[in-house]
Amino acid sequence: MEIVILLGAPGSGKGTIASRLAGEDPAVRHVSSGDLLRGAIAAGTPAGVEAKAYMDKGQLVPDALVVAMIGDVIAAEKTAETMLLDGFPRNVAQAEALERSGAKVRSAVLVDVPDEIIADRIAGRRTCPKCKAGYHVKALPPKVEGICDKCGAALTVRKDDNPETVRDRLVVYHRETEPLVAYYEAKGLLRRIDGDQGPVRNAAAFKAAM
Ligand code: ADP
Ligand code: ZN
Repeated sequence: MEIVILLGAPGSGKGTIASRLAGEDPAVRHVSSGDLLRGAIAAGTPAGVEAKAYMDKGQLVPDALVVAMIGDVIAAEKTAETMLLDGFPRNVAQAEALERSGAKVRSAVLVDVPDEIIADRIAGRRTCPKCKAGYHVKALPPKVEGICDKCGAALTVRKDDNPETVRDRLVVYHRETEPLVAYYEAKGLLRRIDGDQGPVRNAAAFKAAM
């Protein structure tokens, strides 16, 4: 199995791209660190209890917790040919831990979206708490307002998607995660796509780049 890393700011559309590609190809698996952490919080596990305070503030959860969590998921994967890692690694220390684990990284694809349009995107974001499908009130609306197309659950706004926390998450992104662009560029693994082409063309561009 090879790993493809999705790089990009919060709200850049990484999760939408990855779930689309995984949905159309059974050999592709989408792993979202944020979804795993939200699942741990919902399940009340010790990791979830520890992660919650950081996530609510828009800060990164401690590396050791996330590295162990993703390491378990990679080790347990038996069938996928490609794993799309969405939200991990999120800083250089995590990228180094992934490299030490011996996992094979095929590429790191930066989904490039200017900061100016990020805030709008996140403000309109809606998520299905049950099946994790993502929507946007304007760019990707569900067929029935407020209801998940796939499973019928009522859509929710993520707790960390309020304007103040979004600002903090963008600061964290530029400080902690953006250095990964240079990190993977130096290894010859970096690809870039324009993340402002709409969900369908974004996914196609990503697939061609990965
Ligand atoms: P977004 O990409 O929109 O910021 P995520 O669902 O990827 O949303 O992440 C939500 C939160 O989960 C982050 O703000 C952070 O607190 C935590 N988180 C997710 N992935 C990681 C990671 N690799 N390392 C540390 N914290 C993480
Ligand atoms: Zn759903």
